[in-house]
Amino acid sequence: MRDIIIQARELNKSYPKGKQQAIALRAATFKIRRGEFVAIMGPSGSGKSTLLYTIGCLVRLTGGQYWLEGREITQLSERELAQVRSRYVGFVFQSFHLLPGLSALRNVELPGLYNQQARRTRRDRARQLLERVGLAERMDHRPAELSGGESQRVAIARALMNDPPLILADEPTGNLDSANGQLIMELLQELHREGRTVMMVTHDAEIARRNADRILNIRDGVLVEK
Ligand code: ADP
Ligand code: MG
Repeated sequence: MRDIIIQARELNKSYPKGKQQAIALRAATFKIRRGEFVAIMGPSGSGKSTLLYTIGCLVRLTGGQYWLEGREITQLSERELAQVRSRYVGFVFQSFHLLPGLSALRNVELPGLYNQQARRTRRDRARQLLERVGLAERMDHRPAELSGGESQRVAIARALMNDPPLILADEPTGNLDSANGQLIMELLQELHREGRTVMMVTHDAEIARRNADRILNIRDGVLVEK
């Protein structure tokens, strides 16, 4: 099963909503092969982010079984989950989620800090990653001094800090103009070509069609493959 990075069986997630429940995932069953580029599409509120964050071990399921890299996740403690996330998953968000008080370099270094990399190693790697995404000249800038496109490139460098096999991106081009969006898609494609598994939520059918090997559609928490 080494070619299967993700296996999910009957995943359910509901959130309390007053006296009722908001159901975000209904019996989602799927497999993702290592190295696939998968787009997740669906209307607003259909459960796309919940699905992506479940895959990234950020969501506590209300039911089902989930394996990432052959490891069953639903039984793990918070501490074990944090270790799994830090080792296997790089996240990229629509609104970048950089820490405003830290330079680009320090933001990129952070996952290495949580992973207990030595200071020198951490700094060198963060520098290399920022060079790779074309930001050699911007390392000491804080997020407020960066454009949206630059901020998202910092976020991609940060996602790569622990060299994860899985990249999860939630509408990564949603806050960018089309030129910057294109740049980000090229970077994600590059990560895909390196053999990483990429899963991306997008509203844009054209971006999904052009970049993804496969599209998962979700509607009212129900997964439909297309
Ligand atoms: P999408 O990303 O497709 O817009 P979400 O996964 O964010 O959808 O949300 C799916 C459903 O779950 C929605 O009804 C939303 O209101 C609900 N939901 C998502 N996150 C939470 C939360 N943290 N607390 C309560 N309800 C939530
Ligand atoms: Mg969302």
